[in-house]
Amino acid sequence: MAAAANAAASSKGSLKEDLTCAICCDLFRDPVMLACMHHFCKPCISRYWRGTQGPVTCPQCRKEFSCKQFQTNYLVTAMVEKVRATTSDTYLKNLEKQLKETLENHRLRKDDFVNSIRRDKDKMETIKKLGADLQARVKGEFRALHQILQDEETCVLEQLRREQEEELEKVQHHLEAIELALRELEENMRVLQQASADTENVVVTELPQLRPCVRADIAPEFDINAFCSKYMAPMQYITWRKMFKSLKPGPSPLTFDVDTAHPSIYVSRDKTVVVECEAVIPHMGHNKRFLQCINVLAAQGFQSGRHYWEIEVGTKTKWDLGVASEAVDRHSRIKLSPESGYWTLRVRNGNEYSAGTQPWSRLQLGCSPKRVGVFLDCEERRVSFYNADDMSLLYSFTNGPRGKVFPFFSPCISDNCQKPQPIKLIHYPPVALSG
Ligand SMILES: [Zn+2]
Ligand SMILES: [Zn+2]
Repeated sequence: MAAAANAAASSKGSLKEDLTCAICCDLFRDPVMLACMHHFCKPCISRYWRGTQGPVTCPQCRKEFSCKQFQTNYLVTAMVEKVRATTSDTYLKNLEKQLKETLENHRLRKDDFVNSIRRDKDKMETIKKLGADLQARVKGEFRALHQILQDEETCVLEQLRREQEEELEKVQHHLEAIELALRELEENMRVLQQASADTENVVVTELPQLRPCVRADIAPEFDINAFCSKYMAPMQYITWRKMFKSLKPGPSPLTFDVDTAHPSIYVSRDKTVVVECEAVIPHMGHNKRFLQCINVLAAQGFQSGRHYWEIEVGTKTKWDLGVASEAVDRHSRIKLSPESGYWTLRVRNGNEYSAGTQPWSRLQLGCSPKRVGVFLDCEERRVSFYNADDMSLLYSFTNGPRGKVFPFFSPCISDNCQKPQPIKLIHYPPVALSG
């Protein structure tokens, strides 16, 4: 680039030399050409020839001409104008300014590109690192699942081995008894046969001494059907159901805390169902009770680890669910948001879902979940909501709670014409096969 600029400058330099008058040593002014093809400024050659009578000479090549004669060369005139214009101070200053500006522009764009490249590379690093972290996390989760299955398989096989052993032992026991009886019997037969043979020579006066007859037990029953049926069961389904017990976090079997229930909330005897009611229930007064909003908490609070629970909302058209800090104000009307200690999902008018941010974040859900799963990760400070029917993610708070929280529920006040519908805590009953 510097070499090209130099070449351009030097070609411009030699052009400027070519267009310089040999008399005034400046760029041609009003250039004219003599018959010898040499050029001079019209004023210069006129001044040079002034006062000369008769023939004149070219100042450059000394050629003689009979008279003062020259002609205007328009092409040279135009070139001189061009060189003069492009070598003028203002032109050069302007050019220099433009150069600087263009260079500065390029420099800024280069900085932009360099920054953009750095950002892209950082982003790629972040994606790679996050991907690796998540991969490790997913592997860990599956390792735990594999372990559960492995343990379960070992357990079932061990049980089968034990039962088989017991059955074999029973038969073996009987077999040994029968074999003993058989040997005794054969021994007696031998004695009897011997005695019978002896009667031919000797007079036998009494029966020979016989061993007491061993009484063989009744053969043990082997009930093939009973033996098999436990292992011919839908084992994958049973195991899958059993896994709930070992899942971490598995569905927590929550119960409602009656002491927190607003007086217009009816809590079922087993504390797994709540429904709003018109009558005011004469609960014992309690500091923990919600007095303004139709809310209730679960009896189980969490402040570490990961927890998951499911709630059946059915076709209820209005509800709030989530978690609430232990410290929330229960005696005044509070807008539910993380700032006030609530991380909630809500529905209004049957299908208007929102996350309880301030203001509410409207969610576009493809369908209305009948069951909602809430996942609380205390360490990651994450509260996520799932459609428990297909485990699709509905919303996730990443600025979750610090400190102790309780599962939170509000059956709300239904619109007048509707029959109040309950909110139920889902419990998965245990299943049996082994262990
Ligand atoms: Zn001149
Ligand atoms: Zn000449």
